[in-house]
Amino acid sequence: MALMITDECINCDVCEPECPNDAISAGEEYYVIDPAKCTQCVGHFEEPQCQKVCPVDCIPLNPEIVETHDELYAKYIRLTAAKAT
Ligand code: SF4
Ligand code: SF4
Repeated sequence: MALMITDECINCDVCEPECPNDAISAGEEYYVIDPAKCTQCVGHFEEPQCQKVCPVDCIPLNPEIVETHDELYAKYIRLTAAKAT
């Protein structure tokens, strides 16, 4: 599953630079995660880095985007290959 940011976000900007996949950006009202780029940090870290740093705990799993660990890893490989070109 990708992660998502809820409207409890206080726009503190702490999570954005921590994402290894550049999946986080400032949205219209609060920060947003691009599910196509979020691997739950699989391939990079043991745990989601954004969740670790968020001071208000507003980054839950997105229940609408169900992905297995293997799918997340495949996404990581795709994203890394795209970056290398
Ligand atoms: S879980 Fe990892 S890849 Fe997904 S948005 Fe957070 S920091 Fe980025
Ligand atoms: S760390 Fe949490 S509160 Fe801060 S911008 Fe990211 S989601 Fe919002």
